[in-house]
Amino acid sequence: MEPMKVLVVEDESAIAEPLIAGLEREGFEVEWAATGEQALAAAEPDVVLLDLRLPDIDGYTVCRRLRERSDVPIIMVSARGEEVDRVVGLELGADDYVVKPFGLRELVARIRAVSRRTRTQPVPDGRLQVGELLVDTRARRVLLGERELKLTAKEFDLLAALAAEPGVAVTRHLLFERVWESRWFGSTKTIDVHVASLRRKLGNPGWIETVRGVGFRLQAPQ
Ligand code: CA
Repeated sequence: MEPMKVLVVEDESAIAEPLIAGLEREGFEVEWAATGEQALAAAEPDVVLLDLRLPDIDGYTVCRRLRERSDVPIIMVSARGEEVDRVVGLELGADDYVVKPFGLRELVARIRAVSRRTRTQPVPDGRLQVGELLVDTRARRVLLGERELKLTAKEFDLLAALAAEPGVAVTRHLLFERVWESRWFGSTKTIDVHVASLRRKLGNPGWIETVRGVGFRLQAPQ
């Protein structure tokens, strides 16, 4: 198997060098960009690790420009205490977020997770069961216990996307891609409206938990 190519965008060599050495030990092929311009000029990798504070173009802009031309998974890296930025980053199309200082093991797990998640995987065919909830993607029917729920097409797709990964925080970005089949840079309203409606139809808001700054998680309510 080809080694996975990671583009490390980081201006501080004291951070970049041990990080690159660590990733190479883990079997990744690593390219280093010390500026935003270098990152945009680099060959497309399999995953981008993107520091937000860069000397030339800020990380958000780099993220948006990469997104305009590619679906490459992007993990944003920030310093501790930049919580507000997380939402903006995910809305710009980042797939995940890590806060410095992070451990290499955690980072490697995230890299593998985003590259798995973002490989275009449609919602799996068949019957997705979460507690009492059954989502049948072939019949396009939803049963809650004995009761059939009447959902709109988008509500169904949204529920199926969440039910495909029960207990997992699915990002808004990913939901938009799966359900609306588009990248999205606008307001979060559309998705919130659909989630609110689904919660009503499910009869218990506990089914769909909001994961602040990330997205939503489907689980059987307590
Ligand atoms: Ca930096």
